[in-house]
Amino acid sequence: MVRRRQIYEGKAKILYEGPEPGTLIQYFKDDATAFNAQKRGTISGKGVLNNRISEHIFTALQTIGVPTHFIRRLNMREQLIRQVEIVPIEVVVRNVAAGSLSKRLGIEEGTQLPRTIIEYYYKDDALGDPLIADEHIACFGWASQDEMNDIADMAIRVNDFMCGLFAAIGIRLVDFKLEFGRVWDGDYARVILADEISPDGCRLWDMKTSEKLDKDRFRLDLGGEAEAYQEIARRLGLLPEEGEENAVLDLDSHRKKRGR
Ligand code: UDP
Repeated sequence: MVRRRQIYEGKAKILYEGPEPGTLIQYFKDDATAFNAQKRGTISGKGVLNNRISEHIFTALQTIGVPTHFIRRLNMREQLIRQVEIVPIEVVVRNVAAGSLSKRLGIEEGTQLPRTIIEYYYKDDALGDPLIADEHIACFGWASQDEMNDIADMAIRVNDFMCGLFAAIGIRLVDFKLEFGRVWDGDYARVILADEISPDGCRLWDMKTSEKLDKDRFRLDLGGEAEAYQEIARRLGLLPEEGEENAVLDLDSHRKKRGR
């Protein structure tokens, strides 16, 4: 195996040096963490599913003109991405009250919000990713006002698109987290969507049953997390349907019988 230089290891992904300058390889692990990494575990097959789900969503976002770091998927667990300078802010978009919003403000989980909310958290594990205001971002120079305008515009476009994508497969997009990064064109920097979009960073509820099909299954010890991620991939059309799977298997056994 060719040894590659590891650039960074996060909780769910590893970044390696890419084949060309300005590129990286993003490797998706099965590791899962919650509550600022106080809870750790693995979800078998998660990396493969998240790689595929994130590829699907980023590719679709690019077709509607949202710039992203995604270049192409390389294999089951890796994708080629553009190297960016990560903006140290987690952008959370909420359509329905849940999680920390419900806890902090005492709003019942599942309450439809009268308007979409965008929140910003400072990316700092030691501080536990605290909620911040626009004022903090400007004051500490984490991003410029122009960059924040672009980020908020992109977050709303991503939300509108993803609400439709998931509604079409019977899933309510409750909330999700985005990360953005800077790319440089000479002296000029622009922000593009980075990281991943997968059930690790989204709340996805079945519209009929309200069943949670995301990382909350792991956070709340509900069990069936691998099956939930698979269900999302299946509904997005990313896994072979049962009949098709059998067809592939049948083809294999047919080939074997004929000695090919
Ligand atoms: N989220 C995330 N990474 C984080 C914090 C939140 O991906 O470090 C996602 C989370 O999966 C959810 C949304 O952002 O879809 C809002 O999370 P919330 O603020 O409710 O925090 P939590 O309840 O997860 O602590």
